[in-house]
Amino acid sequence: CILLDDLSYNYAAEVASRCLQEVNRALTLGGRVLHPRISVGIATYPRDGKDPHSLLKAADSAMYAAKQAGKHRYAFYRPELTQRARERLDMEQALRRALENGELVLHYQPQIAMASGRVTGLEALVRWHHPERGLVPPNEFIPVAERIGLIRRLGRQVLRAACAQARQWQAQGFPPVQLAVNISPLHFRDPAIVTDTRAILDETGFDPAHLELEVTENVVQVGDNLDYFHRIKDLGVRIAIDDFGTGYSSLSSLKQLPIDALKVDQLFVRDMVKDPASATLVGTIVGMAKALGLEVVAEGVESEEELKILAALGCDLLQGYYFSRPVTAEEVPTLLKRRFTTEPLAHTHHVGGPHP
Ligand code: C2E
Ligand code: MG
Ligand code: MG
Repeated sequence: CILLDDLSYNYAAEVASRCLQEVNRALTLGGRVLHPRISVGIATYPRDGKDPHSLLKAADSAMYAAKQAGKHRYAFYRPELTQRARERLDMEQALRRALENGELVLHYQPQIAMASGRVTGLEALVRWHHPERGLVPPNEFIPVAERIGLIRRLGRQVLRAACAQARQWQAQGFPPVQLAVNISPLHFRDPAIVTDTRAILDETGFDPAHLELEVTENVVQVGDNLDYFHRIKDLGVRIAIDDFGTGYSSLSSLKQLPIDALKVDQLFVRDMVKDPASATLVGTIVGMAKALGLEVVAEGVESEEELKILAALGCDLLQGYYFSRPVTAEEVPTLLKRRFTTEPLAHTHHVGGPHP
């Protein structure tokens, strides 16, 4: 009987599968090699039993379920937890394979300059071409990659592919645009990001001045000395804070960060039209960014209404479905030739708050 406290279901499943592995190690007995197999039942207090006796009984019945399911496996007292643990494990294994087999692909979403209507930047967004499930969005597998220690490897693959691809567009004669690549806070805080990025820039011959690394503001932790920002900045790349306004970055650390751009989270952009307070907030972020000498990008622009408000607020750069969804690499050249309409159209929108 193993007792675990501070229990999460994932952790219990992990401990159980480690037990299976350890017990299964080769053992020589009377000249014969054996691989012992066990079954593990998992019950949790207080849901499955409120006292030691009923808890053990629940664990016992889960163990019999594991035996019945084919031995040498674990089972939760509640079958849906076993199912969930299995799905999670499947997902982890599939993701490992995906990284090895190059099943990850990049799509690109343009960033458009308010002033010219031209594409001045492209954000690389990773997708997973799952053999059975089709295109899996990053929100489903980035957290998995972070949890199982694959995020740096994934980050390197994405960065290398994006730089190589952008280099190819330059070779085809397109003027260079900013290439934005998302970096997980785990990777961004790791000194390896510096060596990784330098190696990839060397390898692909991509100009660091055209590379922008995007990281969410929650990368900054209390008591950080922020050295890691400077080490990355020393590579000559740009740094943008993604999903700005949703985390808890203090304004005092923002002032000290060697960053180049803020990306206003799409949450605020979406609410602007019906909620003047959101428009005021976006206006304040734009004003603050400009006062600090930073560029600002509005994310998730979906409508002409939103565009009008952003124009009135003086936002420089725009990204969103209104202009283009993220597209495949093959579709990018068409975007690079295009000129989008950004002029405030027909009747101007009234914007509440202190902004013009
Ligand atoms: P993000 O970096 O904030 O990227 C913007 C997300 O908003 C993208 O979702 C994009 O497709 C979506 N989007 C763009 N315009 C609109 C719009 O007008 N309306 C709406 N509703 N959505 C819009 P996606 O591609 O699913 O990516 C989700 C998140 O996954 C990204 O958020 C980023 O945090 C993360 N991510 C994507 N690629 C990578 C990567 O290569 N590495 C890491 N570490 N994270 C990544
Ligand atoms: Mg981003
Ligand atoms: Mg974002």
